[in-house]
Amino acid sequence: MPDISHQEWRERAARLVPATAHRIGGTACDAGGDGFDAVSPRDGAVLARVPSAGKDEVDLAVAAARRAFDEGPWPRLKPAERKAVLLRWADLVERDRADLALLIALEMGKPVAEADGIELRAVVNGLRWYAEIADKGLDEAPRTADGSLALVTREPAGVVAAVVPWNFPLTMATWKLAPALAAGCTAVLKPAEESPLSALRFAALADEAGLPPGVLNVVNGPGEVTGRALGEHPGVDVLAFTGSTEVGRHFLRYAADSNLKRVWLELGGKSPNIILPDAPDLDAAADTAAWGIFFNAGEMCTAPSRLLVHRDVADRVVERIVARASALRVGDPLDPETEMGPLVSSRHRDRVLSYAEAGRADGARLLAGGASLDRPGFFVQPTVFDQVTPSMRIAREEIFGPVLSVLTFADADEAVRLANDTDYGLAAAVWTSDLSKAHRISRALRAGTVWVNCYEEGDYSVPFGGVKLSGHGRDKSLHALDKYTDLKTTWIEL
Ligand code: NAD
Repeated sequence: MPDISHQEWRERAARLVPATAHRIGGTACDAGGDGFDAVSPRDGAVLARVPSAGKDEVDLAVAAARRAFDEGPWPRLKPAERKAVLLRWADLVERDRADLALLIALEMGKPVAEADGIELRAVVNGLRWYAEIADKGLDEAPRTADGSLALVTREPAGVVAAVVPWNFPLTMATWKLAPALAAGCTAVLKPAEESPLSALRFAALADEAGLPPGVLNVVNGPGEVTGRALGEHPGVDVLAFTGSTEVGRHFLRYAADSNLKRVWLELGGKSPNIILPDAPDLDAAADTAAWGIFFNAGEMCTAPSRLLVHRDVADRVVERIVARASALRVGDPLDPETEMGPLVSSRHRDRVLSYAEAGRADGARLLAGGASLDRPGFFVQPTVFDQVTPSMRIAREEIFGPVLSVLTFADADEAVRLANDTDYGLAAAVWTSDLSKAHRISRALRAGTVWVNCYEEGDYSVPFGGVKLSGHGRDKSLHALDKYTDLKTTWIEL
């Protein structure tokens, strides 16, 4: 992306006229209820009024996806042809990354440099990764007795509804859509109410890339209406969800009460980050702990929100984290120099601040932040508490904001006990120079991902997902295809 100054981003924002209509069957559709305002967290301004899909519009979208799956060309194309369309889509995202980055920064407050450099890079890489595996699949012919042949083929699972959050609006959509479409499924995407605009632009690029009408539909609207209608819809075969644990429970109920559609859940977390005194570089461990909790304003399912640090090195580590917190450039997401933007909404800001209040009330010691910023927009200061105990709310509940809870321990066994003392199991980390200890601790941690001497490492070849209340199933990697394909056995008498 070319170098764009803060002033020019602001000028582009002022000129922006985003598309707001649902995309159903390859065309724009602005039917539906009253609609809702897309509000920018950078200043509280209304960006656009967005139509809200009720049951009728969801019916239309699912019918379009159903037709495209049952009768359309997409599942029947040569895999290499599906690959070509997905690769074109990736190219178009690259072409329009400045526009997409602007939409993401405006609607959910991610610094524009990260929207481009991190989020859109992940989108482009994801589309290309699944495009490339679209024509690499092999089916099985197990050895059977003479006189018979058995074929085990992977069939596209049908219509996929993807219901996603706002924190990485297009990355989360890509994690669902890229493998689903590569496998030959068709889809209905339901973005979060906080990020309806970037998803519409993203889907328009898919149409431009040559995705046949109805293969990808987008409906916006409130979760309890639009999301629920998808969850209960008998025409949806697979429901792929990323979001909170509470809403994940709803989707399991919707499926149980409708057609038993397959439900995949990527949910919340309260990830422990264990720093042992023999960490290879304590300063690097502290810097990464600070980066991890403040990155994306802490609105990360994998945020290392519980720092478990050995008591012998706690002062040194915490002092460095507090210094980082104070030095962080918090500000306008349209400023390329900004390191942390606002929280996504005023409601979410108030929720995060209520945890700062709970931390104080429960007796934790506030070392940094703990308040909003005195400026328009939904900003919260980078916040650090130490003297946190395991029963405090700030040690147990997902805050989804820039709030770090520091707990100390005396030995590795206690660290593991504290780390696993949570309902969640998305991610964890351990910092040590002792290889055996790293392996032992990593095995003992109940989490979908364990990082050793690093945090937030990822790659499309590596699966991602959780255990316990963090959900089940894996996004990314070849394993994601399990979500969007069915195994079919065909017996042939020879
Ligand atoms: P959310 O659960 O409130 O909303 C997610 C999606 O569900 C949105 O599209 C929303 O409209 C929809 N929804 C809300 N209520 C619904 C209902 N009753 N029925 C059907 N759909 C409904 O989550 P959020 O606030 O958008 O995102 C934050 C949460 O997402 C955090 O808990 C975070 O940990 C989680 N998350 C998890 C991952 C992961 O990969 N595990 C990644 C990112 C975010």
